[in-house]
Amino acid sequence: MLARERTQDDWRRLLAGAVTDPKVLLDRLDLGDGPLARTLAVAPTFQVRVPEPYLACMTPGDPDDPLLRQVLAVAAEDRPVPGFVTDPLAEVEHNPTPGLLHKYRGRALLIAAGGCAVHCRYCFRRHFPYADNNPGRRGLEDALAYLAAAEDVREIILSGGDPLMLDDDALGWLVERLEQIPHLIRLRIHTRFPVVIPQRLTPRLVDLIAGSRLRAVLVLHLNHPRELATGISEALQPLLRRGIPVLNQAVLLKGVNDQLETLMALCERGFEAGILPYYLHLLDRVAGTAHFEVDEPSARLLYDDLAAALPGYLLPRLVRETPGAPGKLPLPPRW
Ligand code: SF4
Repeated sequence: MLARERTQDDWRRLLAGAVTDPKVLLDRLDLGDGPLARTLAVAPTFQVRVPEPYLACMTPGDPDDPLLRQVLAVAAEDRPVPGFVTDPLAEVEHNPTPGLLHKYRGRALLIAAGGCAVHCRYCFRRHFPYADNNPGRRGLEDALAYLAAAEDVREIILSGGDPLMLDDDALGWLVERLEQIPHLIRLRIHTRFPVVIPQRLTPRLVDLIAGSRLRAVLVLHLNHPRELATGISEALQPLLRRGIPVLNQAVLLKGVNDQLETLMALCERGFEAGILPYYLHLLDRVAGTAHFEVDEPSARLLYDDLAAALPGYLLPRLVRETPGAPGKLPLPPRW
């Protein structure tokens, strides 16, 4: 018998049922009475959000679980650290209409939705003014008008938050409108949603992406090989069968993936699932994330080893984002 098709109800139910109370999260992992419970942030402004398929991949009883570390709000977030600021990439300066970022030549980024299915504690957009940048239909019309006039823009990046927070109807409307702009030729979708709720890749969404006039590419965000166990590997297969390239960008995070074996496994097992490594980002120095930082000399030593251990096509590019630069700054291996 055929497996039941994924529907919008499946992912909506999982999204609505995500764990938002850090104490409940720790209880579910048998950590409610341990020392980790005493390190929780008191009143995090960036709320905890962890959907069930992601939670199911954590190891009960392990306070150092690399997936848990990415989503648990701890008191270290509240400590001000010099050099860590609310808008490290000065994105607000490249915001011509609400919801649109035009930082680089030839491509623009549309904040299609302000929310996310998971709240990653290291997120560089955790302080971004989404309330002012939630374009809604009317704001999207302004963004579409800007794009129609910006003839050098050939690629549109749907981002967020997470663009897959939009349902398939809303995404279908948006993609159709983008297809009407003749100079746009590529559609890039940046998302972590299907990593934490693989049910989001509904047959309709697959049709929408694979059937577009725009050449599409899906850029996922996985930081640890255990994240492949949420069901994302299987969920990607219909898209891959239809020829859609799937890439991964990861962030180098202390206590999560700053080990050679972990990064190798992420690249190699990702490839087995059809995902090509794309970027390995150094952490953007955003307020509240200093405890995740791997300093640049250590990151480069680790990357030298990674480059020596993997074939070139499995090596993500180590990059740092620098405000005002024409693109991401590559940090190649030094040997
Ligand atoms: S899914 Fe992406 S945008 Fe959303 S919190 Fe995580 S890193 Fe940030």
